Amino acid sequence: MNAVRIVRNALICDGTGGDLYPGSIRIDGDRIAEVVSNGEISGAKDAEVFDAQGCVVSPGFIDAHSHSDATLLAAPGAFSKRTQGITTEILGNCGHSLFPVTSYNAEQVASDCAAVGVKPSWSDWRDYCEAVDSVHPAVNFAVLCGHNALCAAYPKIKDQCAALDKMLAAGCPGLSSGLLYAPGRTVPPSDLLRLAAVLKHTDAIYTTHLRSEGARLLESLEEAVAFASAGSGRLHVSHFKTAGEANWGKLDAALELLEKARERGLRITADRYPYTYSQTSLSVILPPRYDSMRDREIQEKLSGDPAECERLIEELADSRRVKRAILTAVSKQEFLPYCGLTLEECAVRAGMPSAAAFAVTVLRDDGARAMAAFGGMSPDNLRRILAEPWVCCGTDENARPQDESLGRGHPRSFGAFPLFLKLTAELVGLPEAVRRVTSFPASLFRLKDRGLIKPGCFADLTVFDPAKLDCKADFAHPHTPAEGIVRVYVNGEPTDTGKRAGRALI
Ligand SMILES: [Zn+2]
Repeated sequence: MNAVRIVRNALICDGTGGDLYPGSIRIDGDRIAEVVSNGEISGAKDAEVFDAQGCVVSPGFIDAHSHSDATLLAAPGAFSKRTQGITTEILGNCGHSLFPVTSYNAEQVASDCAAVGVKPSWSDWRDYCEAVDSVHPAVNFAVLCGHNALCAAYPKIKDQCAALDKMLAAGCPGLSSGLLYAPGRTVPPSDLLRLAAVLKHTDAIYTTHLRSEGARLLESLEEAVAFASAGSGRLHVSHFKTAGEANWGKLDAALELLEKARERGLRITADRYPYTYSQTSLSVILPPRYDSMRDREIQEKLSGDPAECERLIEELADSRRVKRAILTAVSKQEFLPYCGLTLEECAVRAGMPSAAAFAVTVLRDDGARAMAAFGGMSPDNLRRILAEPWVCCGTDENARPQDESLGRGHPRSFGAFPLFLKLTAELVGLPEAVRRVTSFPASLFRLKDRGLIKPGCFADLTVFDPAKLDCKADFAHPHTPAEGIVRVYVNGEPTDTGKRAGRALI
């Protein structure tokens, strides 16, 4: 017999963007059976009743841009996600998926998985979904095919096209690209257009981490629009931003470019995390001669070459970017107390002559694992982007346990959704802010019967107190749970029972 649960005394925000209303919800098994405004609900006998005490109940939040591809297998409890109200994540973003796997990329996929203690047992999209499903994750997931993975698995474009075609036919919701990264960044435009042709006559989504989010933002948007025109007519820009102060003035032109493409019939959307700091490897501060080196090679080079270290310290001495960068993650115990500080503050505390000297020391001794946060995004542009009705929320982060056993995340790992709702509700009101994290992303990724509170839909629900919603994580303490989330249901099961009820949305 199905478990019957009731959420009573709630303020229902149903995901459509319509007004909130007081009411109760009856859940039967994994679906919503009844929604009653005002009055009491029927069938309360034998049901588990949760009194929401006037808090808002909305559909569970959908993380449109997640990178939990490996960590959901390693930490299926998805603590960082469910505690911020997320009930579904979209994986396979930025061109990076853990499938397809062939003899060409098996070693690479195995090493990506080994980093979190996972052994790959799959080869294609469906096997991968089944592998994640089999560990019973706490949240639902849907998975895009990553273009970089596709290129790595199949050197020939005709094989890439055939593999993509097969995945789409099997139910994969779309293709993601990461044209900033190898191997995607060197793929000839003619190959990209051949892949776009595979998407034509489907309603598959094309999501992209643009080739440039700063200096060549507009050209990169043009490139993405051209792909969508040749493809399914759908384009979703990942973590949409104007990176670098010199490019903050480009937002008007970027919005106009997208609007013109919409007038030509394209369906264009985006996601954004509600922060102005990005987090990446500390090694990005190094000059271009290091571009082709992996972090471990950089560390090896610097530890054997004191003269090169001196030269780097001189070269980076005046860089404002280096001084202001925040050290966020290291693996060596000795550097841990510096996490959360700017490199300039680190240098003072360590008694070193400059931020550059501190940074080069970390890269020399801990370069393979050192991460830093860089500002460079405009707070005004962030607000303007959040105000757009076609923008949803993405954490751009992994599902993580509360401890740091799988590494240290960006604060958005734990707090992106409460902060997105808080900031967006200030701009456009709570019902619209909730629509943007529920029914809107559900429609983008074809998540059937999700993202709305209505009878027949799956009972993915988030109960929250809008007055308390906030991200309490910062770079010094990134693994701090969000505030304001009261209770989360995934497929009818409350996540606080410890039972993991997420599933593959195929
Ligand atoms: Zn990305």
